[in-house]
Amino acid sequence: MAYIPPHLRAKPPSPAADGSTSTPPRSSLASLLDQQARTRHGPCAPAPTQMSLRRECRCTLGGLPPASSLLGTADELCDAFFHVRATPEAGLPLSCVRQPAGECEGRNTVIVAALHAAGDTPFVARYHNEGREYHAERVMIEHAGLLAAVRAARGGCLRVHISLQPCHHSSASRDISCTRALFAFHERELLPRGVALELVVAYPYRSHWDAEHMTRAELIELGARTLFGPRYHSNGNATDREAVVAAVERIGPDAADRAVEAARQLMESAREGTALLCRGAPHLFSVRAMGPEDWEWLVSLADGEVQAAWRDVADERWFTPERRKIRFAADAWTAALLDLYRCQSVEDQEPMEFNQEKDSKPAGEARDGAECVCASVSSNKGASLRAGSR
Ligand SMILES: [Zn+2]
Ligand SMILES: [Zn+2]
Repeated sequence: MAYIPPHLRAKPPSPAADGSTSTPPRSSLASLLDQQARTRHGPCAPAPTQMSLRRECRCTLGGLPPASSLLGTADELCDAFFHVRATPEAGLPLSCVRQPAGECEGRNTVIVAALHAAGDTPFVARYHNEGREYHAERVMIEHAGLLAAVRAARGGCLRVHISLQPCHHSSASRDISCTRALFAFHERELLPRGVALELVVAYPYRSHWDAEHMTRAELIELGARTLFGPRYHSNGNATDREAVVAAVERIGPDAADRAVEAARQLMESAREGTALLCRGAPHLFSVRAMGPEDWEWLVSLADGEVQAAWRDVADERWFTPERRKIRFAADAWTAALLDLYRCQSVEDQEPMEFNQEKDSKPAGEARDGAECVCASVSSNKGASLRAGSR
């Protein structure tokens, strides 16, 4: 049977009087205009500056101006890869090298793709989203420079470090599955040339969220961003979140319920996407979490003083022992999450619970995926899920 994304599947009738789940209620012209205005201009200010977006959305190592690096300053490296968002599911606090002076947004998808073949690395490039519906994976897949490099290759590996796991009908653009786009790219361009694709994920994308442990306001906000636009977004601030909920409720009597339903569908899609990535990938396509050598590689692409600070553990300007510890714990947690999905069928997939003390293992250890951690699911139900920035 053909695969149908969750958001396109038939839904049971709504308890609402007219049975509609997808169309707004009848409105007067004034309230309709008000609704449209709110859709364009939500209650919140735009997200903080995303450092990654100041750069070109595609650039190659060989094409950089003199004395510049692919991943830039410590702040830029954090914004792209090192940053850890507050993750109550993993018992992890926010960790950012810019604190206390600032804080990354931590939501950008940044890719570093490197082709390794015949003992050489002939191609390295960096990508990020070109637009809300033009994700970093697509920017990479369509890059003429990358295509030329892989078409000249015979064997080897395209290693793709990515800040956030590829989406699967799970972002605000629900029609898009970067997971399937990567599979298709691999089968079209890499597999015929015997080139493996190794996807290295720095942070999961929504598959670890559990609607049962989220507040209704969090669900409304998550769904509202998808249904009504990116301005319906509080960046985790509780007061702003209440403003988001109030604005959604002003749209119409069933707007909040529609948002909650949309949020649940996004999370279901995210879990399906992770299962697909871990269990349904084509031949010579693999996924794993970051390990110590991945950090060595990414840091080697940053500015010289960032590399020096990384090597010198006594240099605590950016990479304090605490921040390193949180970053590596995030990697271990991501590895355990991927292993969990490797072990379970799509149908059985439930949101993961993770006990950092019990389930953590050195991040590098997880890459062979041999050890099943399905049985190690443990509780951290005491963790406050309200503190997280979604
Ligand atoms: Zn940061
Ligand atoms: Zn995507």
